[in-house]
Amino acid sequence: MSDGDGFILTKIIATLGPATDEIGVVVRLIEEGARVFRINFSHGGFGQFVKLLEIVRSASDEVGVPVAVLGDLSGPKIRVANIDSQRVVVETGQRVAFQAAPAEPTGDPVTLTMTDSSVLDDIEPGERLLIDDGAVRMLVMERADDDDGTRMMCRVTVGGPIGRAKGINLPDSNLTLPSLTDHDRRCVDWALEHEIDYLALSFVRRAEEIRQLRALLDERAGDGGAIPIVAKIEKPQALDDLENITREADAVMVARGDLGVEMDLAKVPIIQKHVIAMAHDYGRPVIVATQMLQSMIEQPTPTRAEVSDVANAIYDGADAVMLSGETAIGRHPIQALAMMARVARLTVDHLVREKDQKSMRPSRQLGEGRYRTAALARGVAAVVEDLDAHLVVTWSQRGGGARYLSKNRLTVPIIAASSEPRALRRMSLLFGVVPIEMPMPAGREAFANEADRLLQREGWAQPGDPIVLVAGKPLGVPGLTNTLWVRYVGDEEDEMGGEAE
Ligand code: PGA
Ligand code: MN
Repeated sequence: MSDGDGFILTKIIATLGPATDEIGVVVRLIEEGARVFRINFSHGGFGQFVKLLEIVRSASDEVGVPVAVLGDLSGPKIRVANIDSQRVVVETGQRVAFQAAPAEPTGDPVTLTMTDSSVLDDIEPGERLLIDDGAVRMLVMERADDDDGTRMMCRVTVGGPIGRAKGINLPDSNLTLPSLTDHDRRCVDWALEHEIDYLALSFVRRAEEIRQLRALLDERAGDGGAIPIVAKIEKPQALDDLENITREADAVMVARGDLGVEMDLAKVPIIQKHVIAMAHDYGRPVIVATQMLQSMIEQPTPTRAEVSDVANAIYDGADAVMLSGETAIGRHPIQALAMMARVARLTVDHLVREKDQKSMRPSRQLGEGRYRTAALARGVAAVVEDLDAHLVVTWSQRGGGARYLSKNRLTVPIIAASSEPRALRRMSLLFGVVPIEMPMPAGREAFANEADRLLQREGWAQPGDPIVLVAGKPLGVPGLTNTLWVRYVGDEEDEMGGEAE
């Protein structure tokens, strides 16, 4: 395959926003390789979310490629509450007060309030308080609980301007805030109503929070309607409970924006590798996010370091790489997507050619027990290698079988057919998986023949090419994937020895 042809095994996620709220732009993003779109519930209202969702669904229909929509729940993000139009500048060494009672910020000392004052009860002297992604930094000195409620004195260690509604990070504090705000709960209902494909949860601290969100989804959604959960890893506490969080979640995200504020920034690359390895051990898709091509928010070309970052995330084993501001508010959303796609394609194709053992290692599928689909998926990798097959084709009605194949890091595209649009959309996130809509065939042989025609029609395979097929008998029953077979394109088979289905 030349540089521009064929499938990109690594998946690309684009965050939607004002720069991408036109169908023509989203069509171009899909054509360039975007397969998942993120709606960030932290910005804009439900009117805007509906508009973005409709644009994505229409663009997907227009291009004829299924794509997933990932709704990103803000979680317990704390912000400065009492700065409006004017910003407040604090100097290094200065004292700043935070209090529960309403305050004017411009006093002496400067007095600030938070969007949720209950947080003040969880903060102890000696802990750090960071504002605006750590641009302004403070140390908590002492707290006083007087008649007006809690008041906390801080000393500024790095001064600077504090603007309207800037975020506050408290990396050292043991925050007891609930993981879902009222706004998050409204977003969950909206997501269920609009059949959003994935829900990401920000600022996860413990696995228990994933269980709570899942319980809420189950309760609201009813049978089978729940949405898979992406755990955003961006708090030090999450790293302490990483194994349980990974096991509990359906996918994970290395959310380097807040992670780089809450942790030593210099450690972020090490944490990235660690989180990816853990996700891969448990067979969970893993996304690397934030500032991947940051300079392209303004510039039409990225820095060398940014290009290396995208490539290295793929070397680390990322299933998907994400654009944030680059596509949400940037000046060059299409160029940013095209650049990321090109880096991803060249890098992952290189890993495949080199048979890179580390980046392409099969998932250990920990916690899955003796599961037939997982075992079959491992076998597929060996068959692909021995026969030098160029494609795997599977019937994956709900997408479960495709997930196992994906996490085995097959070196070839996995054409995954289903008759369920929602399953097809969700499969769009999976490494190497190419979801294809197909009416349910009568049985495995009918499926194989249908797949054969599809591959030839699309030019994805030539007569005589070996194709590895994976399906269940009967077709389309979740968890029943039990058959692997090989055929050569163009060899119309009879009914596999007359076996009835
Ligand atoms: P955010 O999450 O963009 O919602 O903050 C990603 C990150 O923190 O990296
Ligand atoms: Mn974040």
